[in-house]
Amino acid sequence: MKQSTRNLWLQTITGIMILILMMWQMRQPRIQELDSGYRITMGTFARVLVVASDKKTAEQCVKAAFETFDRVNAMMSDYDPNSLLSEVNRRAFAEPVKVDAALFEVLTAAVKYSRLSDGAFDITVGPVVQLWRKANQTGIAPEPQALTQAHQKVGYRHLLLDEDNQTVRFAVEGMLLDLGGIAKGYAIDKAIEVMRQQGALGGMVDIGGDLACFDRPVGGQPHWYIGLQDPDEEQRYLLRLKLNNHAAATSGDYRRFAVINDLKYSHIVNPASTQAADSLSSVTIIAPSAIQADALATAVSVLGPEKGMALIESIDQTVALLILSARPIKLQKTTGAANFIAD
Ligand code: ADP
Ligand code: MG
Repeated sequence: MKQSTRNLWLQTITGIMILILMMWQMRQPRIQELDSGYRITMGTFARVLVVASDKKTAEQCVKAAFETFDRVNAMMSDYDPNSLLSEVNRRAFAEPVKVDAALFEVLTAAVKYSRLSDGAFDITVGPVVQLWRKANQTGIAPEPQALTQAHQKVGYRHLLLDEDNQTVRFAVEGMLLDLGGIAKGYAIDKAIEVMRQQGALGGMVDIGGDLACFDRPVGGQPHWYIGLQDPDEEQRYLLRLKLNNHAAATSGDYRRFAVINDLKYSHIVNPASTQAADSLSSVTIIAPSAIQADALATAVSVLGPEKGMALIESIDQTVALLILSARPIKLQKTTGAANFIAD
């Protein structure tokens, strides 16, 4: 064969190969990643990351997730007088109040975590939380007598849930439910459910630092990575956690607290003592669902390091990373936690 004919053959074969490669690449689903950025919802900032095979699906997922947050907030906020929760708080002592399936589900889960934590987590802590919220605004600590009175209205055993009729009733007058320690977790789980339904290949949902992720991570990475924040410095991370299909929630006295008479009061209250929980600086729980991580992070903040560690060790597939109140910073973790530490 002449040199020129050989060259022509080579060029043709190369051309065909390139064409085949291009066609093969076009057949591969192109991966779209979408970052919603931070948006205000549920009294804090939320962010959604989506991995999808096309842009439209990714956009639909973000939209559906934020609609979920707004819906949960409109139903479960105790700040909003028009929420279903506020209606329950007004009427449930007088008569059983029929509620939406979503609210009933959260109330049922809340009672489960109350039992599990021996009352450390308790959504009936509302009357006490109200007093501390007011103290936070005025800078004047609640009167001990007011705390004692509020305490009489606290107790998850006084919350009567009728599963057959989907109704809620209060056994004690003046009870108030506060879902601040569990509603974000519920909203995160629901958002992930709708993103899966919309066809996302993977995603992460973050509401105020509580988050969950599923399936395919962004950037072709092997895991979803999140930073464990330094409680003393907002922009610093103590370590990196790697997650796959997990949720992580952090409760702490460092993000929201009041300074009253030079004392620091956390927004988490011990239902037994009516005092602010202050033995832990930060509690991070990693669990299969965000509702579980959220409720248990609040519970462990109340229980303190010893009882809190023991509780989490007793729960399957759930780990805790605690930062004690004392300085210098000391990290304490349950047995399985090392599996989630990236570096
Ligand atoms: P964050 O809101 O910072 O994520 P949490 O998930 O721990 O923190 O929720 C704290 C909120 O839960 C409080 O603002 C209050 O509304 C409510 N709360 C306070 N103490 C308790 C408690 N012992 N059990 C259940 N909910 C609580
Ligand atoms: Mg919580």
